[in-house]
Amino acid sequence: LYLFALAPRIGQLVDGVGQFQIGSAAAARIREVEELEVEDVGAPGVAAPPGQEPSPATVTFHEVRFAYRPGLPDVHRRVSFTVPGCGLTAFVGPSGAGKTTAFSLIERFYEPDAGRVSLDGKDVREWPLAELRANIGYVEQDSPVLAGTLRDNLTLGVGEATADQLRRVLRLARLEGVADRLPQGLDTHVGHRGCRLSGGERQRVAIARALLRRPRLLLLDEATSQLDAANEAALRDTVADAARTTTVLVVAHRLSTVTTADRIVVMEAGCVRAVGTHAQLLAGDSLYRELATTQLLHR
Ligand code: ADP
Ligand code: MG
Repeated sequence: LYLFALAPRIGQLVDGVGQFQIGSAAAARIREVEELEVEDVGAPGVAAPPGQEPSPATVTFHEVRFAYRPGLPDVHRRVSFTVPGCGLTAFVGPSGAGKTTAFSLIERFYEPDAGRVSLDGKDVREWPLAELRANIGYVEQDSPVLAGTLRDNLTLGVGEATADQLRRVLRLARLEGVADRLPQGLDTHVGHRGCRLSGGERQRVAIARALLRRPRLLLLDEATSQLDAANEAALRDTVADAARTTTVLVVAHRLSTVTTADRIVVMEAGCVRAVGTHAQLLAGDSLYRELATTQLLHR
């Protein structure tokens, strides 16, 4: 129903670019565009001036309680954690634990019923919405792929980018080889639904697109689809590289992501159950041990 209501908007947004696969987070992005228009705060900008390294953001959840609608059960019952800035933080937990919801609350697609979500110590409700979101790069689980060129796919939401800027994000996302392989390089049409790109490449295109805006915080909801070893290594290296200069939060479905994380937040049924490193949690948390040996490996 919601998507249906937005259909004319989607048409406007992708006019001249091509077809658009749309997921729930993409729908939220569309709503973001609408809110921006309503609030008249200008287009989402770039977080840091070119040539200047953006400082990594800090994120805090304080006793967050949240339900999607009144009468529905609380999806976050009591969520508290702190991400001090820079480095890689992985969120793990059974399906439905509230991991993706945490990202939606950071972006302020929704607001908590109680408690507080803060970016740099300031409640996200106190940030001008455009400014808040200019700080954040969000790569959703099923990344939208346009039927335009690889360049279109990278610059969506940014407009134009210099050759240097594009080279930088292609290198970061381990996509240089892919660009070289395509017959017209960056100007190759990547096809309906990006069918010339593998699942792993599509997610890295989405990461590159997010990094082009030089976010201070990168939110990555890892795809659950299987990746071959080369794509898995590329994803792991991309995420590790980004985490050197940016705060990176990943909803992780791969053991290779969580084992390299600086901290892991284990969520269960709307609560944070444990926080620690891979080694600490393997030794100290039975759910984590179970996830690490079964689901994380097999999904
Ligand atoms: P996870 O990412 O850990 O699998 P989610 O944060 O996506 O979990 O979802 C937590 C719970 O909230 C689930 O029970 C899910 O069905 C519910 N939920 C997620 N999105 C919505 C929504 N837009 N409206 C209502 N319920 C939702
Ligand atoms: Mg999820």
